[in-house]
Amino acid sequence: MKVKIIYDNKAMKGFKKAWGFSCLIEHNINLLFDTGGRYGILKHNLDKFGIDLKEIDAIFISHSHWDHAGGLKKLKFDGKIFVPPSSKLKGIRVGNEEFLPNFISTGEINGEQSLIVKDGEKLIIFTGCSHNGLENVIKVAEKYGKIYGIIGGFHDFKNIDILSKFPLVMPCHCTKLKKQIEAFPNALECMAGKEVEL
Ligand SMILES: [Zn+2]
Ligand SMILES: [Zn+2]
Repeated sequence: MKVKIIYDNKAMKGFKKAWGFSCLIEHNINLLFDTGGRYGILKHNLDKFGIDLKEIDAIFISHSHWDHAGGLKKLKFDGKIFVPPSSKLKGIRVGNEEFLPNFISTGEINGEQSLIVKDGEKLIIFTGCSHNGLENVIKVAEKYGKIYGIIGGFHDFKNIDILSKFPLVMPCHCTKLKKQIEAFPNALECMAGKEVEL
């Protein structure tokens, strides 16, 4: 599995940074997780990566906040878009289920859903803002197997010591204790333009 960070508050040279989050998961299918806030920045960074919209098979929206779903409005995407049940966005509403092979939604918790991706025995969690509470997300994911990594916004998650037990953590976007988590030996710095092979 390969993960490309498309949109983040930080960016590598040549990529644009802005408040929001999006990443592309290249696995058995290519799935875009969230779309960032501004279409122009999303498009710039997709272009910079050389990603054509036609290569994206599906979009998963964690929650309808502008900084995660804002880029969707102008995106001319005619594939499947998976959205949380309570959102006003157009798309397919999913619960806690494997909605595509290897792609599981945690179901909506406090207005937000997170994504669990299976890669053989490994599970990778993707979070938008984690308004739903990262602990709750981890609890759901553990039912499916062993968690290998967590990538995304962790919001004001404070029990950061439990993150050291996972081989990889990538605190992005709105993570309040980012500096402390980045100091962990299993942590990777998150920024638009970054590619991670898992
Ligand atoms: Zn956010
Ligand atoms: Zn949010």
